[in-house]
Amino acid sequence: MLLTTDAPQASPDVQSFVGKDHKLLIAGEWVAAESGKTFAVTNPANGQPLATVSEGDAADVNRAVAAARQAFESGPWHAMTPSERGKLLWKLADLLETHVEEFAEIESLDNGKPRAVAAAADIPLAVDLFRYMAGWATKIEGTTIPISVPYMPGAEFHSYTLREPIGVVGQIIPWNFPLLMAAWKLGPALATGCTVVLKVAEETPLSALRLGQLIQEAGFPAGVVNIVTGFGETAGAALAAHPDVDKIAFTGSTEVGKLIVKAAGNTNLKKITLELGGKSPNIILPDADLPAAIVGASNAIFFNHGQCCCAGSRLFVHRSQFEEVVDGVAEQASQIKLGPGMHPDAGMGPMVSQIQQERVCNYLESGFREGARAVIGGNRSDTDGYFVEPTVLVDTKPEMQVVSEEIFGPVVAAVAFDDPEELIPAANNSIYGLAAAVWTQDVSKAHRLAKQLRAGSVWINCYNVFDAALPFGGYKQSGWGREMGHEAIDLYTETKAVTLQL
Ligand code: NAP
Ligand code: MG
Repeated sequence: MLLTTDAPQASPDVQSFVGKDHKLLIAGEWVAAESGKTFAVTNPANGQPLATVSEGDAADVNRAVAAARQAFESGPWHAMTPSERGKLLWKLADLLETHVEEFAEIESLDNGKPRAVAAAADIPLAVDLFRYMAGWATKIEGTTIPISVPYMPGAEFHSYTLREPIGVVGQIIPWNFPLLMAAWKLGPALATGCTVVLKVAEETPLSALRLGQLIQEAGFPAGVVNIVTGFGETAGAALAAHPDVDKIAFTGSTEVGKLIVKAAGNTNLKKITLELGGKSPNIILPDADLPAAIVGASNAIFFNHGQCCCAGSRLFVHRSQFEEVVDGVAEQASQIKLGPGMHPDAGMGPMVSQIQQERVCNYLESGFREGARAVIGGNRSDTDGYFVEPTVLVDTKPEMQVVSEEIFGPVVAAVAFDDPEELIPAANNSIYGLAAAVWTQDVSKAHRLAKQLRAGSVWINCYNVFDAALPFGGYKQSGWGREMGHEAIDLYTETKAVTLQL
């Protein structure tokens, strides 16, 4: 199943970008970390060092927050009209669009995902997000509100609301969709007039750093977007605890999400949005179009090597069709070619890091110890890259870790159901509530289930459908707030109620 680990080289432009000495973007300048420290970023396809980046920490976060504060309160960004902000965002989208192949290569080298997938999904989605948010810049409106004020009889008022940018925003992002997560975060912040300190994941800092160059080229004023590379425990924690940050927008693990909440509680009660983990149910009903559902179930878990917060990692199938569906998904898995993301035939690349490969394999071992069985897959590859085979597990029980916890790898637990009445409680039996899917040809049933599922996204006869206009986020411990759509704009603004006595 594994292709050769040799892969074509990246283009000369990408090689020269990746090989340069990467710095932090603070106040419009590329600067070394104050400590002078750097760290190595690894190519997960071969375990070799890929790049050297600056190790920013609390001192650099302080500098970046000061720059963002200054840019928010004075200077050209502060004075800019909504239309001018929108134009800059549109220009950034145009620039990014002319560099799709370059970003796809950077993303593939750094994260491990297939270059073609990044070129078809990650980068175009980021372009589209910036364009969608560019449109919002001129449409952030308050309301006029008739008021009564019972204790002031006869008085007349004119009341209205303003939606104002929330201020300096700290954004902390993960490694699974490095550029796209940066876009989801930056787009609404910039549309609303906020300024940003972006802390990218230590495993995958490169595409955000290249984006930083395009942000400068587009003409965003200095200090509007500051980018700090470094570690979560130092740079990330310093940002979350910083008293002069007005909001933290975080995507990552539920565990770290809770630390962010604590840090805000212990300091300035900054606003928080969280996009956290998931263990999403994917339900195939007996009347589904089975061939489509089988392909859909395979894509639901194996897309991005299962390193998706919304991966369809619990597959519910009626017992009468269980074998057929499990065999079908296993057949799909058997056709996925594992290989370096830069290899043109690779359908699945390596896990992002050795740590992530270990995590996934530890989960598999715990499942096997408890009696689960792999119909296909179940192993890591015997190479220097961090590959794990696409895996379909059966004979699981709800209390097993492989069923209840997020694995964040290409592992699906298939579960048979008999009684449709038991299905919804079983599907909702999770601390998470990020996504869910239903495959059925019965429209009423589809909508009834969509209503009953406790999840922020429900897909019917499809999976992993994302759009800049669709809000995305979680119920329960999958998060607070939503990304994308107008809901994201709301979460980057404060509402001010203004009242004038006539
Ligand atoms: P993570 O530790 O939650 O990392 C996400 C981001 O938070 C990274 O930028 C990380 O920095 C930073 N961070 C870590 N500790 C922090 C702290 N104490 N304060 C502030 N920021 C901190 O996730 P991970 O290590 O990349 O992966 C672990 C698990 O998270 C995954 O297996 C998966 O379950 C989940 N995850 C979810 C998503 C999602 O989209 N919902 C994405 C990725 C991972 P460093 O990069 O330096 O650690
Ligand atoms: Mg980490």
